[in-house]
Amino acid sequence: MAAGGRTGRPQPGRRHGVGRVGDPVGEAAALRRRVGERCTEILGDGDDAAPVGEVYVGWFAALDARACPPRFRAGGESGWGFPGWSAPLAAAAAGRAALAVHLTGGEPLGAPPSLPDPLAAVRAWMKMVRTAPEGGAGRWVAERMDERDDATIAAVAAGATRWLAGFVRVLGWPLPPHLLVLGAGGTEGGRPLQWRPPRPSPVTVASGADARVGKVVGSGDFAVVIHRPTGGDDGRLHDRAAFEATAATLAIGVVPASVLVTAGDTGERVRVPVDTALLDAGADLVVAVVHQRVVATERGHDRADATPSPTCRHCDVLAECGPGRSWLAGPGRWRGGLPVL
Ligand code: SF4
Repeated sequence: MAAGGRTGRPQPGRRHGVGRVGDPVGEAAALRRRVGERCTEILGDGDDAAPVGEVYVGWFAALDARACPPRFRAGGESGWGFPGWSAPLAAAAAGRAALAVHLTGGEPLGAPPSLPDPLAAVRAWMKMVRTAPEGGAGRWVAERMDERDDATIAAVAAGATRWLAGFVRVLGWPLPPHLLVLGAGGTEGGRPLQWRPPRPSPVTVASGADARVGKVVGSGDFAVVIHRPTGGDDGRLHDRAAFEATAATLAIGVVPASVLVTAGDTGERVRVPVDTALLDAGADLVVAVVHQRVVATERGHDRADATPSPTCRHCDVLAECGPGRSWLAGPGRWRGGLPVL
């Protein structure tokens, strides 16, 4: 467990000018310039621009481009853009929205919100969106209700309840002062946290931050929260912190003091201070996605740089990927609790 630990209140990490980034606003402007220039170098411009269409750079694209480039390149048009709503994706959005609604209503005037019952809060949100759908996830869930897709609704409700319970478990109750839930539909902070280089660049960098602790101020004395219902390995955690530090800086225009990454299943959290090295690491992840989009248009799937790992177990292109299948058939590999025969 790194600085920030699992006890005490999460703090933004930079207090009263004591920080690792001397000028959070100037550094953010420089980062925007650097990332924009690197994207243009890769994509070209004017008549030389690569025919890549829109380039959506979110965490899952960055993860695929880093972990196994052919997996990202194989995504095609459906995998390169916003992946569209699914039960797991909608569950996180529903958990955020249910929490935001709980925080803003229902209590007697002036009374602080009570500790939410996660299942009751999610049920209340679902009842609300059925008649007044708000936000992308809200509209998608309302459509599933209209279609009587009970299995999907049950999966969303279960995931959202777990998300909300884990969030409160990790951050404590009452929540830290000045916490704003992000990406929660029609509430304050509901607008997507995204950045685009100056047009006509086709790139959109999308932050996956779930919340912000502290107001956005020029000193950068605030933190972004990345809540994960389950933990993960150290390398992935560092990459996630780097990507989200960079994406949030690009979108907000101020370098946050820290990124708070959580794991709802264990109740752990780690506060990662944001410094220039972390921002550069995040910029490399963003630029790698743009680079792989160009490679995909020039060379297609091309498995030459395939990087097999446990991810192969649920890779959509496993059936056509020799390196992945060989790796999974190797000694000591297990699938679903059974050895591969
Ligand atoms: S099967 Fe494995 S090695 Fe092949 S593309 Fe998928 S993740 Fe990469």
